Amino acid sequence: MFNYETQKDWPIVSGQIQSPIDIEHHLAQPVEDLPDFVHYQIKTIRRPDGKLSLKGNGTATLQKREAHFVEGHFHHPSEHLLDGHQFDLELHLVHEFINGQKAVIALLFNVGAADATLDNILLNLPQPDKQLKLPTPIQLTDWFDAASYYHYIGSLTTPPVIEGIEWYVAATPLTIAPKQLATFKQLFPENNRQIQTLNDRPILLLY
Ligand SMILES: [Zn+2]
Repeated sequence: MFNYETQKDWPIVSGQIQSPIDIEHHLAQPVEDLPDFVHYQIKTIRRPDGKLSLKGNGTATLQKREAHFVEGHFHHPSEHLLDGHQFDLELHLVHEFINGQKAVIALLFNVGAADATLDNILLNLPQPDKQLKLPTPIQLTDWFDAASYYHYIGSLTTPPVIEGIEWYVAATPLTIAPKQLATFKQLFPENNRQIQTLNDRPILLLY
């Protein structure tokens, strides 16, 4: 687990195009090129090092290129902000293109109605440092309903915060029940990196 209390001391690779950021909607340039997500399912849930990690498969089409789902994990509260608003939970679905380039799909959750997919995950938690292969994979179709995604180039949000990562942040948040959020808070401590300077980077709104 990285120490989020001393994150100012994390080693930074270059520092000009870091993540997360506060996404200001009025800066985003609309582009008709909605990402597409097919065959997403979680097959294994792991709890390494005080975290919750999801493995499975799925294929995203991001600006006409295919990327494969590698791993999913959560941050609370959210790392990205939308117009200054911080969300209660953020899911990162890490992807890789064929050339090894990384893309992260970020889904944001606000407290509201319970999310059935999250319930399914929380019902299948392995013990700490163990993993659970699910007898029936969890389908993630409900998570990809957003009509638009913010896209910019940033970094990983954990050390060594490598840059050149493609981000796709869903513009419409999902909801998480207070009880579900309480479970996440109980499972792991706050693990959000502070927002970083935009430095005139372009932001697209893919719809
Ligand atoms: Zn993350």
